[in-house]
Amino acid sequence: MPWPLIDRPSIQLGALKAYLARHEPRVTVRCHHPYLGVAETLGVELYRFIASDLWLSETLYAGLLFPECAEGQRAVARRRLRKAPGDPDPAEVVESLHGHLERFVAQPHWEETRLVGFSVCFHQLFSTLAAARRLKRRWPHLAVVLGGSACTGRVGRELLTRFPEVDFLVTGEGERSLLGLCRNLAGKTPDLPGGVMTREGEGGGACEEIDDLAELPLPDYRDFFAELSEGLGARMPLKVVLPVEFSRGCAWRKCRFCNLNLQWRGCRSKSASQVAEEVMELARRHLCLDFTFTDNLLPPAEAERFFAEISRSGKDLRFFAEIRAGISLRRLKGFRAGGLATVQAGIEALSNSLLARMGKGTTVMDNVLLMRNALEAGVELKGNLIVEFPGSTDQEAAETAAALDVLICFPPLDIATFFLGFGSPMAADPAAFGIRRTPPHRTAQRIMPRDLARCHPFLILGHEGDRSAQRARWREVRRKVAAWQRLYRGRKSTPFDPPPLSFRDGGDFLVIRQELPGGSVLHHRLRGRSREIYLALRQPLDLDRLLARFPGGTRESFVRFLEELTRKRLLFQDQGKWLALAVPWW
Ligand code: SF4
Repeated sequence: MPWPLIDRPSIQLGALKAYLARHEPRVTVRCHHPYLGVAETLGVELYRFIASDLWLSETLYAGLLFPECAEGQRAVARRRLRKAPGDPDPAEVVESLHGHLERFVAQPHWEETRLVGFSVCFHQLFSTLAAARRLKRRWPHLAVVLGGSACTGRVGRELLTRFPEVDFLVTGEGERSLLGLCRNLAGKTPDLPGGVMTREGEGGGACEEIDDLAELPLPDYRDFFAELSEGLGARMPLKVVLPVEFSRGCAWRKCRFCNLNLQWRGCRSKSASQVAEEVMELARRHLCLDFTFTDNLLPPAEAERFFAEISRSGKDLRFFAEIRAGISLRRLKGFRAGGLATVQAGIEALSNSLLARMGKGTTVMDNVLLMRNALEAGVELKGNLIVEFPGSTDQEAAETAAALDVLICFPPLDIATFFLGFGSPMAADPAAFGIRRTPPHRTAQRIMPRDLARCHPFLILGHEGDRSAQRARWREVRRKVAAWQRLYRGRKSTPFDPPPLSFRDGGDFLVIRQELPGGSVLHHRLRGRSREIYLALRQPLDLDRLLARFPGGTRESFVRFLEELTRKRLLFQDQGKWLALAVPWW
């Protein structure tokens, strides 16, 4: 259901269809991607605008479920649609969604369908429930099952209780539970499998995860391409990006704000050769060259083997993946050679005490090194800075703002305002972060009945504590990030121009080119030992290491030199270590 990105199929549906086809070939599975039809109905630009806003996207379908909250829904939709392309009328948008849903439900093949399953991730809950309600009304014989990361555990149980149109709910990994449910409905097994809930209780206990991901077949995306070619794709050729998965779960799993792993118990990974085979086959089958890894974190060692294999293939494939800071330049360059074009990294903060409280397990220096290395390796880095984190101090906000002054030599980060995730470690112990109360989210209370809002169905809690103080505290960081983004948008550079801070090595001297925010350019020259020290600092080093590596100088002369380069923003300094910021430009 809406609102996924329109340029890609659902890996959830593709994976489940392929798994059922392998284990129960007599079951016919048809995948639907109604978001393509909604994008066609609303227009791609408006669709994308709505899809980028959780509250707006859910509010527009909330009217089909809770007409008693119409006033609040209208107010939220009006305010959030204000900047939408084409200045749409909220009532007309809802009307269009309604019309699309009616057409979707009226398709004659539902008559011969036994079970309809919805995969529910972020932004898909109310569109799913609205579709389930209409399907059940029109075709009462249908059994309805929901599954996915947005209806796991307690939230899933609440949904089952409150929405009679949902018959079954899969909590956790879907493959084995859905297969077992199909067999049970076909009368082949007497009991429901693990991971399947009904209003009467749970099936055979907890969901059975697949230990060895080598058991998973290739996702089947053929229904997506058929649907695309008959509708949206016929009018508007899209570059399709195919989702692939290397691993499930997160090997780190310690970030205190994170609730991304509610549906997994463990972390498992495929082998590099399996993923390479899958990618090659998908590329061949669908004539696609672009892929996105759905992993929370790419498993670094296995990924290194994978990208080496892709690099050897000579194919121009491109990938997106999520990684963690701490990855070496050598490894990142290897990933790039195998097609890793864009990464999302959890930068989150530029204050060490804040990173520690978040449980990131990284330092500011790790983050800055990643930004530098990504630029040097030619990998686009997308990273967020979390602002208004509960309990953060004036000093932490000031440290962040000070770091930003230096980091403008790299492509800008984005701001992510903190939200309290249901099921996150923070939500389990809010007082430890200065959070006094966790009421339902204020917007949730306006668009749905209060008792439902109290179950936090979007996996977001409201929080009370130091919110207004945090808003004021982080204002300067927001301002600086906005200025940083403007600076990059306004840069008059071509792909052949160097980045704002780069160097060229003359063998026994170094020329560092530095663009200043106003557009003027400085050239710094470092000779002999100064050059060698700068090059050595492409890895963060402390003074003792430097003195050991470059004997003969006094501690004072080193400190003077390092501080001078730090003042000129050619070096970054943190916790007694220095890092050269300029990247080579050939
Ligand atoms: S934020 Fe990312 S790295 Fe941290 S626990 Fe969640 S999935 Fe893992």
